[in-house]
Amino acid sequence: MQMPPEGRNWDELRAEMIARGHGDVDWRSGRTAVYVFNAGEDIHHVQHEAYGLFMSENGLGPLAFPSLAQMEKDVISMALGLLHGPTGAAGAITSGGTDSITMAMKAARDFARANGKPLTDHNIVLPRSAHLAFDKAAHLMDISVRRVPLKTDGSYEADPAAMAAAIDASTIMMVGSAPNFPHGIIDPIAALGEIAVAKDVWLHVDACVGGYFAPFARMNGVPVPAFDFEVPGVRSMSADLHKYGYCAKGASTVLFRSEDLYRHMPFSLRDWSGAPMKTPTLAGTRPGGAISAAWAVMNVLGVSGYREKQGIVCAVREKIEAGVQALGFEVLGRPLLGLVAFRHPEAETLALYSAMRARGWFTSFTAEPASLHLMLSPKHAEVADAYLSDLAAALADVKAGVAAAKVEARYS
Ligand SMILES: *Cc1c(COP(=O)(O)O)cnc(C)c1O
Repeated sequence: MQMPPEGRNWDELRAEMIARGHGDVDWRSGRTAVYVFNAGEDIHHVQHEAYGLFMSENGLGPLAFPSLAQMEKDVISMALGLLHGPTGAAGAITSGGTDSITMAMKAARDFARANGKPLTDHNIVLPRSAHLAFDKAAHLMDISVRRVPLKTDGSYEADPAAMAAAIDASTIMMVGSAPNFPHGIIDPIAALGEIAVAKDVWLHVDACVGGYFAPFARMNGVPVPAFDFEVPGVRSMSADLHKYGYCAKGASTVLFRSEDLYRHMPFSLRDWSGAPMKTPTLAGTRPGGAISAAWAVMNVLGVSGYREKQGIVCAVREKIEAGVQALGFEVLGRPLLGLVAFRHPEAETLALYSAMRARGWFTSFTAEPASLHLMLSPKHAEVADAYLSDLAAALADVKAGVAAAKVEARYS
């Protein structure tokens, strides 16, 4: 496309944009279980309106926009209240999980430098299942990554002893996930915390996908193990608002046990032509809408609203687990929240994945071990039966050897 020489009519453009969206996955129907968290029309409406109210305002300017500064403080305070943040704990809203993780690593690195650790050649120690955002941040900061194999007992949990063995004097951070993305399993954070304290290493808990889910699941009676600041060794956490916080995209939280740890995160500079500037997160300009929408959704749902939504998601996951097990699938480990991965001993995962795509389901898969992967939303309560009956049909096709060929033809 070349820029039109004369501006075009908005009504026409709007229609064209809506038409362009028709080729996308139909997530509104619930047949997508990746990328989108569908909490229903009412929440979508609140996101939309609350985003619009502060869409032009900039979270970079707390003095210009005390409204946004206060909303951010409120969001962080609500987050710390849910995640056992002690008095003096601090944090910020970022643009997403990758931003939160990058900034937590930057703070941990600078904290290490300020506290007698080597100045260069740092490493981080993380389970094989941790998110690639850590590798990306490590790449940016020239930090080496030590990925440690998971336990071999079928739990798909991080192996604390093996992680302890990988830590040395140059380790600036160790990581546990709550839960990990590939299997949806919460790592043994309490055991990791003991190692962190004993070795005086920064422990980050990546609760990007579970931070706004696990506290409510626990209130609903799900046996969620200790995973947050309740564990003494945890120094920082990432928790995404735009996942199970059901907020508009572009919003996550990065949280620190104390102001003394947090202060290593913001970046400031006086020595240039411009005015002295300070940015707390990776972004400069920060979209006011992402902050205001998060504030609004958290308040409109409240504890009872989140408990209800996450209760629905847990019930769907249990139903899907039972349904796939009845079809002969093995569920990986014991998931407790909204993610679940499962594999079949007699059917190739990618063939099943393709056969389900052909039936209109856009989901994900896990590589180790090869398995289908679902990230469930409240909307999926309406389509779980349809999913299971399509999966039964897909399984029969794959076993009979027909589906793979058909799908290859469709997508080539
Ligand atoms: C989604 C996710 C991230 C990264 O978050 P983005 O918002 O996609 O950048 C990190 N860790 C886990 C466990 C996640 O699920």
